[in-house]
Parts: sequence; structure tokens; C-alpha cells
Amino acid sequence: MSCASLIRRALVSLGAVAVACAPATAFARVTALVGGNVVDLSGKAPIRDAVLLVDGDRIVAVGPAATTPVPADAEIVQMRGKWLAPGLMNMHVHLGLNLPGAGRLYNESREAKALRMLDNAQKSLQSGVTTIRLTGEDGGIDFAVKKAIDGGTFDGPRIHTAGESLVPTGGHGKLEVDGPAAFAKGVREQAKRGATWIKLGISGGISDTHGDIAASPFTDAEMKTAIEVAHRNGLKVTGHTGSPQASEYALEQGIDCFEHGYWFTPELLQKMKAKGTWYVPTIVVSQKGALEFYRKIGSPPWYLERQASVGKVHWETLKSAIKAGVNIALGSDQYPFEPNEGTTATVREAELYAEAGMSSAQALRAATIEPARMLGVDKEVGDLKPGYLADIIALDADPAQDIRALRSISFVMKGGKTVRDDAVR
Ligand SMILES: [Zn+2]
Repeated sequence: MSCASLIRRALVSLGAVAVACAPATAFARVTALVGGNVVDLSGKAPIRDAVLLVDGDRIVAVGPAATTPVPADAEIVQMRGKWLAPGLMNMHVHLGLNLPGAGRLYNESREAKALRMLDNAQKSLQSGVTTIRLTGEDGGIDFAVKKAIDGGTFDGPRIHTAGESLVPTGGHGKLEVDGPAAFAKGVREQAKRGATWIKLGISGGISDTHGDIAASPFTDAEMKTAIEVAHRNGLKVTGHTGSPQASEYALEQGIDCFEHGYWFTPELLQKMKAKGTWYVPTIVVSQKGALEFYRKIGSPPWYLERQASVGKVHWETLKSAIKAGVNIALGSDQYPFEPNEGTTATVREAELYAEAGMSSAQALRAATIEPARMLGVDKEVGDLKPGYLADIIALDADPAQDIRALRSISFVMKGGKTVRDDAVR
């Protein structure tokens, strides 16, 4: 039973007034979002003039106003003319991102970094992103940030994290380990800290100062062991990849997901489709919208050249992956709220999926229920149905008809708590 219902029951039975029930006292009343339209992710018609009831942190009812009664004591939030959609989910985020050129961040203290990461988490939530997956952070700060948010000390998105990314010495990642035994230990260390994913840098990266993006530095034994140990601990594994060869072997070893995929062959995409392997494109990082950001942080010419060189082939890979029907979950690799072509990196990423061949409805799914499926939490978040956590955004139009509607986010609720409301009420 929810805290709100407990309070109501207590009030009825005791005639009492003061009942403390921390920490949910802020949600003592049912909240009713009324008059808006609720988007449908399964291809059905949206619910127009809807009532959506939130009790505690969950949605308890969604339906047309005519058949969905609003409790007399409910707090009413008027949503006339708005479209309600699930909170967005961004599956490739580094809260502590520090790319070449971001000189001001070198020698950043651990304490300063923790504050910057928390600030970035809060800005992510404000931008409408209610769940993020972290794909490589430093020194365990991500676990502290997650704990502070989960405990209610600070507002922020729901965080799933891979902890530190593992890589052979000199590879694209943070925690350098060599040999199968060291990989096993590295994976176990992340699991011990609370990671639910493992991130492996299985090929080179754009931001590396040496080596080829298509390099495949893992030995077979290292890759096999890392994936096996992660799976034995109930963790999923994702690989940063720009190398068909490295991807091929990781796929054979049962990797669950690939990041970026700058170069995927048609054969590899077919295998991914057959196995249900996930693809998180991060297409924004190689397209022109990201230049704005790279210039802002003063990225050096060699970095801009590497970015431009992968942009074209990355775009072709995304189009082929969509055509092949590969599972795609949205991830930006820029801060979720980072300005990109007049909107945020998260929204731009979804728009680019539509430009590359998805319908708007598919792109919306890639930003909501598909990441939830990938994380294994699709009965909790990613949709607006009774029983789901109340992670909700409000827009000016139906994003399932035109994904660009995501540019108009004006309201954000996470777990029943309104964290942003631009409307003058
Ligand atoms: Zn990344």
C-alpha cells in the first residue's frame, strides 16, 4: 500500500489530522494530470482529453476523462493542449565527460568532479531525461552520485552505471587491465561497487591520441573472460566499437550491446538482428551538430579531423541498422542536455534516427520503451500505464507523429515529483 493510501486510511479510522509518513509526505495527495493527450507507443491512437492519476511515485490510472474519475481531494495539474509522453532515456552518458580541448577540466579535483557530475545529472533531468545509463566514469564517483539521487537527497535521473570502462593498456577506456585474470578482477570490482553493466573499449576511439579507431586490441581470451565473468555476475556487457573485427568476436562471445558502431558490416548487422544484440548509435557525436560543442571546448584540429572522417560511414551504418531491424536504444555520448542544432543532444539524436529511416513512432520508442527493454526495466519505466513509475514529460504536439515535438518539453515529472513546470498556473 502506498504512503498516500496509508494516510487516507489513518485519517478515516482515527479522524486524526497529523500523520507523519516520511519521505512520501510530499505526495500525500493523488496528483491528476487532466485535459492532455497521452501518446501511445504501440501504434494505437493516443488517448485524447485524458486523466492520468499519480499516487506516490506510480501511475495508478490512465484513461479518457469520461471514464476515469478524478478523486475529490486530488491535486489537479491542467494539461490542456499538451501531450504526455514517458520521460526520455539516454543510454550513453558520461556525467564527467572531459574531451580533448576541455583544458579547464584538466587537474580537476575529485571533489570538483563529483559536484560537476551531480550538476550534469540535475541538468539532464531538467531536460526531460529521467533515466540514464553511464558508460564509463572515473573512480567510483558515479556510484556516490547515484546513491545520493536514489536516496532522495538530490533530484536527478535514474542511473544505471557501468562504473569504470575496462580496456587493455593503451586502449580506449579508463581502467587499464591486461590478461584474462586482470579482466575478471576488473569486472568483479565494478560489480562489487554496484555496476549493472560492464563497458569494454573493444576498439579505438575518436578521442584517442594514438592508434586506429578500427584497431582490435583485446586478445580472444581477454574478451571471452570479461564477458563470461560479467554474465556470471548478472551484469550485461556493452562494447565501444568502431571495428568490425572486434565486434564480430565480441558477438560470438555473447556481448549484449554495442556503442557507436562507426563501422558495421551488413553481415554483422544480420547477426546482431538474429541474436537480439542492442545498438546504441550516439550518432550526434559524428554529425555536424556536435561541431558547435567541439569548437566551444577548443578541440584540436586532429580531433575535428577524426570526427569528420567517421561521420559519413557512421551515418551509413545507422541507416543500414535501421533497415536491418536491429534493436536500437537512444544514446548521445554528449551530455543529455548539451545544445545541439537548436535543441538538446538527446532530442537531436532521436530526430537523426527519424532522418535516417525510422518513423517518428519508432524514434520515440528508441528514446523510451526500447532502452527500458534493454535495461530490463520495461515493466517499471518507459511507458505511461498503471503500475509504471510516474516519469512523465509534457509536449506541445504528438511526438509519435512528428519526433520534433520533443523540442517543446515544458514539464518534467520523475517518480511522481514535478521537477520542472514552465507553465504559468
Ligand atoms: Zn562514450
